[in-house]
Amino acid sequence: MSRKRPGLDEAMITNRPSDSQHRLSTVAARAAVAEEAAHGAVMPPLHLSSNFRFKSFGVPDRYDYTRSGNPTRTELEQALARLEGGTRAVATPSGMAAVTLLLSRLRPGARLVAPFDGYGGTHRLMSTLAERAQIELLFLDYGAQEAEARLRAFRPDLVWLETPSNPLLRITDLRRCISWARAVGAEVAVDNTFLTPFGQQPFRFGADFVVHSTTKAINGHSDVVAGAVVARTEAQGEDIAWWANCLGLCQAPFDAYMTLRGLRTLPMRLRQMEASALHLAARLRAAQGVAAVHFPGLRDHPGHAIALEQQSSFGFMLAFELSEGRAAAQAFVESLCLFTLAESLGGVESLVCHPRTMTHAAMDEAARLKAGIGEGLLRLAVGCEGLEDLVEDLNRGLAAVR
Ligand code: PLP
Repeated sequence: MSRKRPGLDEAMITNRPSDSQHRLSTVAARAAVAEEAAHGAVMPPLHLSSNFRFKSFGVPDRYDYTRSGNPTRTELEQALARLEGGTRAVATPSGMAAVTLLLSRLRPGARLVAPFDGYGGTHRLMSTLAERAQIELLFLDYGAQEAEARLRAFRPDLVWLETPSNPLLRITDLRRCISWARAVGAEVAVDNTFLTPFGQQPFRFGADFVVHSTTKAINGHSDVVAGAVVARTEAQGEDIAWWANCLGLCQAPFDAYMTLRGLRTLPMRLRQMEASALHLAARLRAAQGVAAVHFPGLRDHPGHAIALEQQSSFGFMLAFELSEGRAAAQAFVESLCLFTLAESLGGVESLVCHPRTMTHAAMDEAARLKAGIGEGLLRLAVGCEGLEDLVEDLNRGLAAVR
């Protein structure tokens, strides 16, 4: 791959992996490895049991009931907490369960600020809670000039951030927004699904909680739906563990086992996916019929400078707009052989998605248009296939819309 491609900043890719990322790779590769005492199993056993024997009358052992805690789930939670640099993680049955877990802590009437262009499912849940008057909600464009003033005036209890955003890869300045939230005493949750702890560590900028849909790159094989919340402090960790048990938002041990298995190879998968995404973004940018490419690795991406500062990778997601709208999007997608038309992202397989009719179909039209999700927008989740094959496939798509 050429190192000098106009419009692209490859510094991150060529510099990677850094020393600290090597160490994180070790944490991932060795997660729960060679720790089993009974038989010396190198890979940990899967504990499916729903309940555990008491030590004696009235004296539980470390685990008593799998909703409250399970050894396999603990192994995953400990690995996620270490990778994010938090104190404690709670593994949930889905990414939306992780969102639900954090929103459940809000008292009736609490004020929540959230991104106007966040993941459609999160947007829907928050809007519905607000419609039912359970919370007060402000959807905000954190990049707008008046954002700080509006956030401060709203006096939120919780500020929700998602960066890069889904699907347009807008970058939110974590340091800046977290300082606004701190100034009004709000807690901050950051959805880090798109980058994983290998691409961004929100606790370094002062976040209180990191949220993941581990369905995506962390598991990475598109065979588990799951999520996690990681807490910055012990007290916040205790609190989310209490709520997860109370609400039953606990991840099944089998899902935790599978996710732990995927997690061990996360850094290598990411490296391959990110390098390909960078290359494909450059190709699309130069292509006829493409009106815009949204990828933070492009030098003229509005969030490029912030991405360089707060991320250690540009990620494996990109979106682009076809000039000829919906008809072009359909023709493009129908001519592809490799990119699969499916929701989700972060798996070993490359996917293409039409946000307007898929991931963001639940958003109302006005919100969708405000978020910039038009008919010609396509989102790519770049996987681990050979780059040449991916390029060939995109060329097929581009030929169909020319
Ligand atoms: N957050 C983001 C950024 C997502 O993309 C998704 C799902 O696509 C979720 C949260 C919800 O996760 P799940 O589908 O695992 O419930």
